[in-house]
Amino acid sequence: MPVKLVKVTPKVERYPEYEELDWVVGHGLGVDHTADMTTFHQTLAQAGAIKGIESYYYMRYDDSPERNYIPMMFYTVFGKPKIPVLMHEEVEPVGELFNVIAVFSSSLLIQKTSQRALLFDGAKKDAVLLVNTSITPDDVVRLVKKYSLAQDWFGKVVTLSAAKIDSAIAWPLLGALARAWDRVDLDSLLAAADVLGKEKKKDSIRKGYEAASVKEVHVLAEETEMFKKIKKEVELPEFPGEFWTPEVFYAYQKAAAEAQTYPSRYAAMPRWEVLAPGLIEFGPQPGKRNLGFTTPWRWQRPIIDMNKCTDCKLCHYYCPDGAIDFAPIKVDYEYCKGCGICETVCPVNAIKMVSELEYLEGLRDEEFLRRFEQREYGF
Ligand code: SF4
Ligand code: SF4
Repeated sequence: MPVKLVKVTPKVERYPEYEELDWVVGHGLGVDHTADMTTFHQTLAQAGAIKGIESYYYMRYDDSPERNYIPMMFYTVFGKPKIPVLMHEEVEPVGELFNVIAVFSSSLLIQKTSQRALLFDGAKKDAVLLVNTSITPDDVVRLVKKYSLAQDWFGKVVTLSAAKIDSAIAWPLLGALARAWDRVDLDSLLAAADVLGKEKKKDSIRKGYEAASVKEVHVLAEETEMFKKIKKEVELPEFPGEFWTPEVFYAYQKAAAEAQTYPSRYAAMPRWEVLAPGLIEFGPQPGKRNLGFTTPWRWQRPIIDMNKCTDCKLCHYYCPDGAIDFAPIKVDYEYCKGCGICETVCPVNAIKMVSELEYLEGLRDEEFLRRFEQREYGF
C-alpha cells in the first residue's frame, strides 16, 4: 500500500538570538582528536567563566564517532542565550553564529564537515580561523577559498604547528587563539589552566601565543571558487504526486548528497513531517550504491597498484562501505571513506593510503603527517 505524502515546505530554522552569543566551533578527526578538543573547549569555557561570562562547551551529539578519523565537532558558547541553546543537539550552521573556527587537522580545510556543511557555513564575517598546521596562512586562505568558503570573510587566520610545542596540542592552540581573538586573553587562559589543575601546561599556552602566525584576511564571496560552484547548485526535486515512492525518495537523497552548503542540503532533505508513520528508508536501487551515502569528507585515499594486485578480492569483501568494485577491482572514490581497512587486509601490499592534502594539493603539512604516520585502524 503506497504511503500518502503530506506536503510541507522545507525551511531552515534560524535563531537570531543565537547570533548574539559568541561561539567557538572546533573541528577535529574523530577519536584521534577527542581528548585534545575536550581540553581546548573546556579550558575556553573556564576562561570565559573567569572573566564573568556564562560559558559552556559540548560535543555535537551526532559526532560520537565509531570510526577513527571521521570529522567531528565541539562547541564553546559564551554568553547567556535568550532562548535555550539545544545542548547536545545539532546547531544548524545558518545565520552568523561562529566567531571562531578552530581546526585541529588541515585535512579538514578541504573536506565537508560532519554535517555535510562547508567549514564556513554559519560563520560570522569577521570570524577567526585557527588552524593547527605547518602550512602558511596564505596557503590556508587559498585552500578555504577553493573548498570551504563561499561568503565574505573579513577576519583573521591564525596558524600554529602545535605539536612542535606540546604533543597535547590543545594548550599551545589556546595560546595561539588569544593572539587573534580578544574574547579570551592570555591571563584568563593561564588562570583557567590553574583551575583545571594543569599548571604545568601554562608554559605551552605562552609558547603557542608567541609562536602563532596571524594574518588579516579580506575575501569577497565572489572571489572564491566555492562560491562559483554553489551558483550551480542542484535543483530540488518536486513532489511528483501524493504518494511517497522510491523515486521520490531517491530524488531527495541525490539532491541532499549533491548539495554543497548546509542550507541547500537541509532544504533538499525531506522533513520528518512528510514521512508517514511506519515508513522506513528505501535501500539502494538494485545493482547501485546508496545515493545518500556518498563521501563528503576523506582525509586519506587508497591507491591500488594493479601491477601487484593478484585479484584475490579480499579488499572488495572487507570494505565496510562496499566502495570497491568486484570486477575489475576498482575503488569508487564517490563512496570510499578512507578508513584504510583495504590496505590492512591486502595480502600482497598492493594498496597504499595517501594523504588527500598531498594528493589534491601537493601540500605536506608536518602536523598532519605526524598523525598520518602514527595512524592506527580500529573499529
Ligand atoms: S579505504 Fe578501502 S576499505 Fe575503507 S572505505 Fe575506502 S575502499 Fe573501502
Ligand atoms: S586485496 Fe589486494 S590483491 Fe586482493 S584484490 Fe584487493 S588490491 Fe588486489
